[in-house]
Amino acid sequence: MQINQNSRATQLVDRFGRKVEYIRLSVTDRCDFRCVYCMAEEMQFLPRSEVLSLEELYLVARAFVELGVNKIRLTGGEPLVRRGILTLVEQLGQLPAELLITTNGSQLSGMAADLKRLGVDRLNISLDSLQPDKFKRLTRTGRLEQVLAGIDAAIAAGFKRIKLNAVVLKGRNDDEVLDLIAFARHKGVDITFIEEMPLGAITEHDRAEMYCSSDELLEMISAEYALIDSDEKTGGPSRYYRMADSDSRVGFISPHSHNFCSECNRVRMTVEGRLLLCLGNEHSMDLRRVVREHPNDIEVLKQHLIQAMELKPEQHHFDLADETPQIVRFMNMTGG
Ligand code: SAM
Ligand code: SF4
Repeated sequence: MQINQNSRATQLVDRFGRKVEYIRLSVTDRCDFRCVYCMAEEMQFLPRSEVLSLEELYLVARAFVELGVNKIRLTGGEPLVRRGILTLVEQLGQLPAELLITTNGSQLSGMAADLKRLGVDRLNISLDSLQPDKFKRLTRTGRLEQVLAGIDAAIAAGFKRIKLNAVVLKGRNDDEVLDLIAFARHKGVDITFIEEMPLGAITEHDRAEMYCSSDELLEMISAEYALIDSDEKTGGPSRYYRMADSDSRVGFISPHSHNFCSECNRVRMTVEGRLLLCLGNEHSMDLRRVVREHPNDIEVLKQHLIQAMELKPEQHHFDLADETPQIVRFMNMTGG
């Protein structure tokens, strides 16, 4: 939904003067994939009672928007496997905020048209490999052809913008970076390369050994394509480049090599309703307790959100050399 950025100043301002205008909601911890950098092979998912209901999720989103948030992203786990997700999307689609979804693409061939019709503005679709075997090894359970069909369905549905996300691991899929860019250009979509973050203990690989920095990728890509620096500010860890001969943009999400904390404009809510003030820190507020102790009371919830801004830390510290992850939650609890 289009909104006038100037007419709705956010009431969510932290101790460092940063305005929070963007909320990422994790709507489920479940997923049909088991990507090696995100989950363990055997996962214990939360009992349903610990997960916010669709009504509770909607109340939280509405409270944020009433306080001036203008961008909502649904993530997970895989948001499109949450039962009833289209009902929530329909409600959120009517709020005066931009609505985005991050998805693995597995359900898109059947859902893309409905998502567009119900008000989703933009999609991020994860795609780490264009080779079926490698895709399978990275996602453990995913089927590449299903995701490619989903990407085509999303393009046909006519979203304002579609962006592919690839987590690049050295020796696993760094040889596909140029192929992925060629694919994005061919499809007329954007692509962003993500540095792996140390969230949750995984045993499948050593994160430090497979770490592939955005600067290395930038050098490799620049040898093939002339990238034009774009000064677009995202308030997050992404930097974007344009290409002279294509509308597709190339982005890099670099939580390790580029500190973006001073511009941070976002907060996240885990699937259990824990409001995380920073992806790289444990500072949080239990919103599930608030919504369950005061059902449907949006004013009490809004007061808590305003108070929570006091907890937002100045910056994160990810340290790859440290073998124990500082952050013990898996990415599927918080969303990307
Ligand atoms: N299931 C959806 C998907 O895969 O797009 C949404 C949730 S997923 C957690 C969101 C994004 O986080 C994906 O692009 C995924 O590749 C990325 N991601 C997961 N674990 C990560 C990690 N340890 N480091 C960096 N990115 C990660
Ligand atoms: Fe599922 Fe997304 Fe995590 Fe992969 S990255 S396991 S698709 S939640």
